[in-house]
Amino acid sequence: MRQKVIVLGGNFGGLTAALRVKHELAGDVDVTVVSDSDRFLFTPSLIWLPFGKRHAPDITFPVEPTLDEHGIEFVHAAAIGVDPVDHTVSTSDGQIRRYDYLVIATGYRNDEDVVPGFREHARTITTLPKAQETAVAWQAFLEKPGDVVIAATQGAGCFGAAYEFLFNTAYQLKKAGLRKEVRLTYVTAEPFLGHFGIGGLPHGEQLLGMFLRKQGIETRLATAIDHVEDGALVLDGGETLQFAFGMVVPPFLGQGFLVGSDGLTDAKGFVRVRNTYQTEKFDDVYAVGVAAAVDVPWTTAVPVGIPKTGFPTEAQAAVAADNIALQVRGEQPTQEKPFGDIPAVCVMDAGNNGVIILADKMLPPRKHGILVPGPQAHWMKLGFEKYFLWKMRNGYVQLP
Ligand SMILES: Cc1cc2nc3c(=O)[nH]c(=O)nc-3n(C[C@H](O)[C@H](O)[C@H](O)COP(=O)(O)OP(=O)(O)OC[C@H]3O[C@@H](n4cnc5c(N)ncnc54)[C@H](O)[C@@H]3O)c2cc1C
Repeated sequence: MRQKVIVLGGNFGGLTAALRVKHELAGDVDVTVVSDSDRFLFTPSLIWLPFGKRHAPDITFPVEPTLDEHGIEFVHAAAIGVDPVDHTVSTSDGQIRRYDYLVIATGYRNDEDVVPGFREHARTITTLPKAQETAVAWQAFLEKPGDVVIAATQGAGCFGAAYEFLFNTAYQLKKAGLRKEVRLTYVTAEPFLGHFGIGGLPHGEQLLGMFLRKQGIETRLATAIDHVEDGALVLDGGETLQFAFGMVVPPFLGQGFLVGSDGLTDAKGFVRVRNTYQTEKFDDVYAVGVAAAVDVPWTTAVPVGIPKTGFPTEAQAAVAADNIALQVRGEQPTQEKPFGDIPAVCVMDAGNNGVIILADKMLPPRKHGILVPGPQAHWMKLGFEKYFLWKMRNGYVQLP
């Protein structure tokens, strides 16, 4: 009988895992992707949405035709429960689906309870609907400018997006002729500039410091936020930063339906995995990407999270798919790639400039790490967006 692989989530991790397992095993498996979104979203470009540089159709595509072309079934529904003992997934369309192998790639949701007032008063860019709301707020700001605050809260891990949005905001303010009259402040949980949630990279602190000084951006480092009010960020210690426009990156949580699924997750809803990306308890349940738990290997005065970016997500999905292929063929799942050992490859955009970030490992100790600033980084980011959307839309997940 053909083995049944179910993949939950249809973005970076889910599409990569589903397509790769199908390419590996072709007719030996039935693969189904279950996702509550029927579109792939290129999240890195959400930083441009509030400024009108991108709109939803530019950075999304429907996943069903891609999956269909590769012989993969698509179910547009949310997973609402997993029973790893029974080998079943319940979905919002009322079905209970049986699997032989399950890949959980359901990513993140914002921790909207991170500080009081975040839910009601903070704008963010970490999801498409939230970035669209932030676009409306930016237009209102242009009509009635004032101070601007960009922040990453305690526990946040997506610092790259916070920096990118900060520098893009500075660039847009300059373009609008507002840079001199607007006070722009960056508030972060990071212990030093350029920590990025990965412990920093050689010369990163100096480079980021220079970027910020040149643009006249004020900073509050190692700072927790007490609460958010309408038009104000109140910091631990009592300082109040008024803003006419603000963007706050919150910490991420795993999806709620996973919590309580037979001890699959940690307290934040992230699935605990081994280096094979099998879950700690179940050999036939895998988790990849943001959904997979990663322990923070250091303690900081204000807690910081780990950025789980696209490159490691794809690498994890490839390992999971290869291990499933081995298991289906009756072999041991021997592929391993610990998160901390996956190379860090990222481009940080700054509007018309940027920084290319390369390191041999996501987490220290590292042998090599380099930051390359310059306008080529901006052009690389633009080119990468087009390339990646083309690659995923066509299902060419074997390409880099
Ligand atoms: C603003 C921003 C900028 C970023 N910039 C970069 C960057 O420049 N470079 C980089 O490498 N990374 C970047 N990242 C990180 C990158 O977005 C993540 O690494 C990537 O999204 C992880 O992919 P994933 O498949 O694990 O999760 P996601 O992309 O979150 O996908 C999860 C999928 O699961 C679906 N889903 C959720 N719940 C359910 C459910 N209950 N049932 C079924 N389906 C469900 C969702 O609809 C979605 O399709 C950025 C992230 C943000 C927010």
